[in-house]
Amino acid sequence: MEGLDWQHYAACRGSDLFFVPDESTSETDDEKNRRERKAKATCFDCSVRVECLEYSLETMQKHGIWGGLNEKQRRQVIKQRRGLRTT
Ligand code: SF4
Repeated sequence: MEGLDWQHYAACRGSDLFFVPDESTSETDDEKNRRERKAKATCFDCSVRVECLEYSLETMQKHGIWGGLNEKQRRQVIKQRRGLRTT
């Protein structure tokens, strides 16, 4: 798949679950957890999950669900990969 072609196959196209709905409003932790659980369930069956996750890691996406991981989980992956490279 070339460049960003994988986005055409994204299972989340048209979904509003993957980012905070409106930046002017805040979510409670429970609301965020519920939204993220639903988003991650979509990612689980997505055919371009790997491409999506790698893109988000390469471009250091700071917000939202990408490849089934939230921002905190992606930071952990980046940390682990950096750790693997230095050992
Ligand atoms: S892995 Fe998740 S966030 Fe990425 S394209 Fe698929 S459904 Fe969307």
